[in-house]
Amino acid sequence: MSMFDQDLPRTAANYVPLSPVSFLLRAARIFPGRAAVVHGERVTTYAGFLERVRLLASALARAGVGVGDTVAIMAPNTPAMLEAHYAVPGLGAVLCPVNTRLDAGAIGFILRHSQAKVLLADTEFSAVLAGVATGLVVVDVDDLGNGARIGSVEYEAFLAGGDAGFALRLPDDEWQAIGLNYTSGTTGNPKGVVAHHRGAYLNASANALTFGLGPDSVYLWTLPMFHCNGWTYTWAVTLAAGTHVCLRRVEPALIFAEIAERGVTHMCGAPVVLSMLIHAPEKRAFPQVVKVATGGAAPPSTVIAEMEAMGFAVTHLYGLTESYGPATVCLPQPGQEALPLAEKAAFMARQGVNTPMLEEAAVLDPATMLPVVADGEAMGELMLRGNTVMKGYLKNPAATAEAFAGGWFHTGDLAVMHPDGYVEIRDRAKDIIISGGENISSLEVEEVLYKHPSVMEAAVVARPDAKWGETPQAFVALKPGAVASEAEIVAWCRERLAHYKCPRHVAFGPLPKTSTGKVQKFDLRERARRL
Ligand code: ADP
Repeated sequence: MSMFDQDLPRTAANYVPLSPVSFLLRAARIFPGRAAVVHGERVTTYAGFLERVRLLASALARAGVGVGDTVAIMAPNTPAMLEAHYAVPGLGAVLCPVNTRLDAGAIGFILRHSQAKVLLADTEFSAVLAGVATGLVVVDVDDLGNGARIGSVEYEAFLAGGDAGFALRLPDDEWQAIGLNYTSGTTGNPKGVVAHHRGAYLNASANALTFGLGPDSVYLWTLPMFHCNGWTYTWAVTLAAGTHVCLRRVEPALIFAEIAERGVTHMCGAPVVLSMLIHAPEKRAFPQVVKVATGGAAPPSTVIAEMEAMGFAVTHLYGLTESYGPATVCLPQPGQEALPLAEKAAFMARQGVNTPMLEEAAVLDPATMLPVVADGEAMGELMLRGNTVMKGYLKNPAATAEAFAGGWFHTGDLAVMHPDGYVEIRDRAKDIIISGGENISSLEVEEVLYKHPSVMEAAVVARPDAKWGETPQAFVALKPGAVASEAEIVAWCRERLAHYKCPRHVAFGPLPKTSTGKVQKFDLRERARRL
């Protein structure tokens, strides 16, 4: 044994399990009077936020929730959602936020699979929950007022029955589960991603650092909190002792009003949310620079450039539920600010480098597990390794082992490594188009389509083809009032891409999207098959 292991024990004085619950305790102690949560006209200070969290934790404990139990919540971005992010972990229980757009079948599966003891249910979802929320305690969160009740108690009454002196606890072990987030499950039942306190603490810290959050930050909740716990900003904003501004609906008029009138400094959203803001008739000017982090799907460089031109400073993040949200960030290099906007935006469209708390993000050949050549051309699978990777999939050892094979988390995303060490995703493995034996990156074709002056949104998927196996099929939504023909779009692509990569067919109309802002390529592939 080394002398450094002798008489130098781990004690309560020098070792505390990492948990984001500590962020709230600290923020409330230092800034009790600062606005913590804003919801319409209602402003709750950090002291008030902590008090409500204690009430909720104690009420849940009285309802029988303890260490290792699951509490599900289905709610838009409301104060209850934030309160649950501290009260549930503060009991040693596990929070399972349910995607608010799921149908009754999928919700029923999640409630059973997660073995949720309690469900906190915003009354907006009473109808879809009525038949499936059985066999557990349901608390109605009547945030809107006058919603239909399906539970045994309303949230405010539930809190009123709690104890404001209740002591929140840190986990005995930071490896203890904090969250259970289900993936979208486009190919079968969703998988339950288990997150731990340590990973949540570290990822939130990395987020606060890379996004520059501080006590003066006013964070607008345009990203669903159910999506990877709002990419861990539910905890990061509190770590910074900034202000959370809740938002039930992602609507441009509301967003611009909050930005202009509430002094918003930071927000996040999938590229489709940015695109919605760019094309919104309700667009408003605002004096401050608003930092916006985007990810969840690849942002076309034109979307980045247009946001920057509108007064936003864009940060590009990439990640998955399995990595607590952000795992890579496209960090600007010195001198980049001075580049012409289009050039800067093209660089920023890359997924970038590992976030500060993630050990490594590498592009490996899955057969050999060796890095691909960093030439911006050779494709491999993006793999992650570090302390901000999930514990694994709940009750699914086979999927967990497969995801972690070879000591790396396999993302399922195909990427290249540029000579400067920045990663760029070419496609999800299942979205790549193989035409005449050649790989075609749907993202590369979409990037060209987005540059067409009439195109608002574009997606490219494989269309079965007797001769080539597959050919690219484009789906395009035009800007309001814009016109463009199929021939014109195809010609635009032929001028800018190798011909085999060009879509031969273009269908026009709105693109189907998931609640987390991804274009539903699965759905488009089905459509392309039928065309
Ligand atoms: P789901 O798998 O349920 O859609 P996730 O949020 O975990 O939900 O999705 C993660 C996937 O989203 C990644 O594997 C990747 O394909 C895509 N993604 C996320 N961020 C980006 C980004 N910045 N650029 C490209 N793709 C992204």
